[in-house]
Amino acid sequence: MLIAGAALLACSRNHAPVVGVSCSRSGSGSTLLPTTYTDAVSRAGGVPLVIPTVHTDEEARAVVAALDGIVFSGGEDVDPAWYGETVWNETVEVDAARDTSDVLLARAALSAGKPILAICRGSQLLNVVLGGTLWQDLPSQKGVCHSDVVHPIGLREGCVLARIYGPDSLIVNSMHHQAVKDEAPGITVTARAADGIVEAWETDLVWAVQFHPEKMLRAGDSRWLELFRAFVDRAR
Ligand code: MN
Repeated sequence: MLIAGAALLACSRNHAPVVGVSCSRSGSGSTLLPTTYTDAVSRAGGVPLVIPTVHTDEEARAVVAALDGIVFSGGEDVDPAWYGETVWNETVEVDAARDTSDVLLARAALSAGKPILAICRGSQLLNVVLGGTLWQDLPSQKGVCHSDVVHPIGLREGCVLARIYGPDSLIVNSMHHQAVKDEAPGITVTARAADGIVEAWETDLVWAVQFHPEKMLRAGDSRWLELFRAFVDRAR
């Protein structure tokens, strides 16, 4: 009995971590996810699982229980109603069903203590779920452009990105018109662009990046595999 238990424990310790990835929904009703996310998890040694829209807390908890870690992917804007604001202008595009699904999944993952990698919308979503707010449209509210450009980010000493890549600034892609405004209580901002825009933050459970490491990896920049490897190892 003891031997069987020990064997089971060894087995559960050695399995490849199962990493769920949240998805968008197309206007015609399909589940949508760029393969960049799931391929990055695979290349990093994880088992990727696509998470469709969930509708209840019970569903979200059951999905999260089956995972070792979860990636919140990019996509639409979070409805400003989630942080007590009205829509700023016509650039803000929301999907109510995805917002509900992602908020339920994020709350379930946080309460279950599952590691979270939050990318672009994911970073914005987790900041909102933890009590923060967003810039709804950087060009019209802040006069800065982070769409379809690359820019350097400066790293906070000792943060996850600095531990992986060293203390020097990193060049990242940038394809967002929203960003973290008021930081949620308890988060640590770990990277900013030269204009001050938040580009990464973390907590004990959440690693959040405003840029798209999965796209840079797909484009051939293999350094970004290290971030996914570190996350998969953490989910192990
Ligand atoms: Mn940016």
